[in-house]
Amino acid sequence: MIFDITYQLSKLSTCSHVSIELKNVTKKFGETTAVNNVTFSVKEGELMALLGPSGGGKTTVLRMIAGLEMPTAGDVFIRGQRVNDLSVQHRNIAFVFQNYALVKWKRADVKARVAELLNLFGLEGLERRYPHQLSGGQRQRVAIARALASKPGVLLLDEPFGAVDAKIRQELREWLVTLHNELNVTTIFVTHDQEEALEVSNRIVIFSRGVLEQVGSPREVYEQPANEFVARFIGVMNVLEPEVHNGVARIGELEFPPHGQAEGQKLRIGFRPYAVQISSDVAQHRYRAVLRRTFFLGVLLRVELELPSGLVLRARMTKEEYAQQGMEDGKAVSFQIRQYRVLAGDNAGLPPEGELSDQAAPTVSGKLGVA
Ligand code: ATP
Repeated sequence: MIFDITYQLSKLSTCSHVSIELKNVTKKFGETTAVNNVTFSVKEGELMALLGPSGGGKTTVLRMIAGLEMPTAGDVFIRGQRVNDLSVQHRNIAFVFQNYALVKWKRADVKARVAELLNLFGLEGLERRYPHQLSGGQRQRVAIARALASKPGVLLLDEPFGAVDAKIRQELREWLVTLHNELNVTTIFVTHDQEEALEVSNRIVIFSRGVLEQVGSPREVYEQPANEFVARFIGVMNVLEPEVHNGVARIGELEFPPHGQAEGQKLRIGFRPYAVQISSDVAQHRYRAVLRRTFFLGVLLRVELELPSGLVLRARMTKEEYAQQGMEDGKAVSFQIRQYRVLAGDNAGLPPEGELSDQAAPTVSGKLGVA
């Protein structure tokens, strides 16, 4: 029965001040450092994503919070209590894995609560079905409903929607947000899907190779990425490496100020698609390109610009802009890069975006001014 798809770790009374804190937590498996000196906290009632590429240490962090792994160094706190030595059963935490979960507590105790939750989730009647009689999406909803049955203080979800197709995944994301708003249970979920983390969570913790790269709201990590790794991992970024000649950093027809680089050296420049301003008036901006390809994503369209030199840049336009300007693939356009950052390296901090003054074509000096 569906009982077998929920792994309930404990059922202590709900505490009104749930919060989780990791302080300088390291986890080693033999020679492998899965989690390296990680510190962050989760506020009561927060919906937090642990995001990062495969092998980044997300699952290990989740398992240490659950009590399924012991930190090699550092401390885990739940509601201010150090829980390093507390067994899973005493942490008041519910855990749902990607494909399945198991139940470990008395069926009679949960029956009423399950009925209540299934009702809330619009899943009435499904409790008598076997897992194979449910769709992937229903199975995950039921698993989560059952995990919540004992009113846990914290809900941990490991890639909860990893095994379902794109459409159901989208429905489940929306459902999780609604559910969280309804129940306000502190929830931490693991995902490697940037869009999912941005769309669903209040805050995101980004890991790579066991290191915490940044903690912040979706907006913060997108608009103020702490380093190049985060900037490239969250959303799309154009990265160019112009070389300095005669005091100007050039790549193809694009020119940037040298930013202190000496003659012959390369500079790394990064800018978001939204920083590229496009006009169908080929005389309006400094640079020319052809709109090579359009991806229809919804309200915002992603476009690829191909420059005469062969360079390809990614940009964004709203549907309205696109229509108003009579855009279509193959159309000649002009563009400018309004903002960019000078990138230093994967783990180096990012300086703020530089603003570029509007460059009407043609420019006299050929240099971009930085406001
Ligand atoms: P994924 O998205 O692939 O699940 P992840 O970010 O969740 O990745 P972890 O599963 O936490 O990453 O793994 C982090 C590192 O620790 C990896 O190098 C992994 O191989 C290693 N690791 C995890 N669990 C163990 C274990 N029980 N024994 C040995 N190494 C492990």
